[in-house]
Amino acid sequence: MPLFASAQVKKVSQAKLRAMKKELVSEIDNQKKSTQEMVDMIFSFGELGFQEEETSRYLTDILQKNGFTIEKGMAGIPTAWTAKWGSGKPVIAIGSDIDGIPKASQKPGVAYHDPIVEGAPGHGEGHNAGQALNVTAVLALKKLMEREGLPGTLVLWPGVAEEQVATKAYYVRDGYFKDVDACIFTHVSNNFKVNYGDDGANGVVSVEFSFEGEAAHGAGAPWRGKSALDAVELMNIGWNYHREHMEPTQRSHYVVTNGGDQPNVVPSEASVWYFLRDRTYPKVKNMYDDAIRIAEGAALMTGTKMTYRILGSAWPRHFNKPIAEAMYENIKAVGLPAWSEEDQVLAKAVQEEVSTNKAGREGKPAQGLATKLSSLGTPVEFSMGGGSDDIADITWNVPTVTLRFPSNIPGLPGHHWANAISMATPIAHKGVTAGAKVEALTLLDMLVKPEIIENAWVYFRDVQTKDTKYIPFISETDKPAIELNTKIMEEFRPEMKKYYYDPTKYNTYLEQLGIQYPTLRSDQKTPKAGDY
Ligand SMILES: [Zn+2]
Repeated sequence: MPLFASAQVKKVSQAKLRAMKKELVSEIDNQKKSTQEMVDMIFSFGELGFQEEETSRYLTDILQKNGFTIEKGMAGIPTAWTAKWGSGKPVIAIGSDIDGIPKASQKPGVAYHDPIVEGAPGHGEGHNAGQALNVTAVLALKKLMEREGLPGTLVLWPGVAEEQVATKAYYVRDGYFKDVDACIFTHVSNNFKVNYGDDGANGVVSVEFSFEGEAAHGAGAPWRGKSALDAVELMNIGWNYHREHMEPTQRSHYVVTNGGDQPNVVPSEASVWYFLRDRTYPKVKNMYDDAIRIAEGAALMTGTKMTYRILGSAWPRHFNKPIAEAMYENIKAVGLPAWSEEDQVLAKAVQEEVSTNKAGREGKPAQGLATKLSSLGTPVEFSMGGGSDDIADITWNVPTVTLRFPSNIPGLPGHHWANAISMATPIAHKGVTAGAKVEALTLLDMLVKPEIIENAWVYFRDVQTKDTKYIPFISETDKPAIELNTKIMEEFRPEMKKYYYDPTKYNTYLEQLGIQYPTLRSDQKTPKAGDY
């Protein structure tokens, strides 16, 4: 287990630390323009998981120009990389996701559904912002570390294909975190937030079941066929009956990825892709075993052959207490961004728009952007379950926290075009700048106060992993599903390319798209000042 010698740490006085922090904050303010360019550029790429080619090339170019050593193809994944700078201990890994959401293409700053490219993917989760935050923070910190001779190694890395929970367990398995002392992860949100312990999320296994039958003429000789599609349907029926006997914390959902070619040919091949989620590793493992058994039953009933492949996985998350506490102090010091009236008008109009359309009513009045800091998140006592993130697999191997930063609008459905609206506007730009400050200040604390990482490992060993041993869902031989989303990107990339952000010609992406900020439809009412 990595421990770094306190002797290596450069002692700094409280007054000196305060001065260095002040300098970091003003350096990050000076970088606002380049931060905005990174946010807007990655937004304009809008790439799906495993296909983040432009995004990864763009980010590694910036980091390489700034003296980072780049290693591409992390864990055999073409769009994954590490960017390393510095020397000695501590080694701190700094990550954020980079992939988008299918069909989430959306013009930023426009308060209703208006895609840039109809049907194309886009940043309907806001994964365009986290790396801009990380790069801004580490470049400011690097300058200070160089001048002050502070030891430490910074390793940036991307969450590739997070929407498929498909890479981070592989990063762990392939040893990328074995010499790391701590990990800071960033994720977009609508407020600042950091928490420790179990955060109430679910673990997940993402698995595709495939059936192989026998083709035949659908009318001329159906008795000679064995339908793989029948097997898919029977598996789904079996699973949906089984659902009644599962605990309420589970979430399971599926899409049919192959339902055959045309009705008059008995489908000889068919596949269904499941996400199986629950609160603990043993519960997810049980669901996985149940799904395999039900799939085997469907194959028996139809005389087909069943195979399955794991496409992704995540443990339930557990975050580190000492690092979260150190970070929360910096959140309080930085505070929420000052939102403009335009920012609030946009937010409120979007909240009203999605509360009444088919995305579902939340039942809450439009409240605008967050103006009150959330408190430090403590371990949940009870949770009904929810989403997943494969950062979890890193949290069970290295003391880790996730910094949630305010770049999105509260109360939206998530994984949705509406969640893209703020992500290349002043809301995201300001949130990323504020988030970069919190991250840089926390990293500096970790470099000059060795007790933070020492205590982080005490918590990790004596509390978090005392009775829970990490067992990965993936095996030694499973391979990342790097072919996912290839076809969708092949279809849409040529059209999306026309809208890549060009910062040499336009100040902002809003300017390039000719969008008045904010844009409301004539029937969307503009709240009066002081109305939110
Ligand atoms: Zn995400």
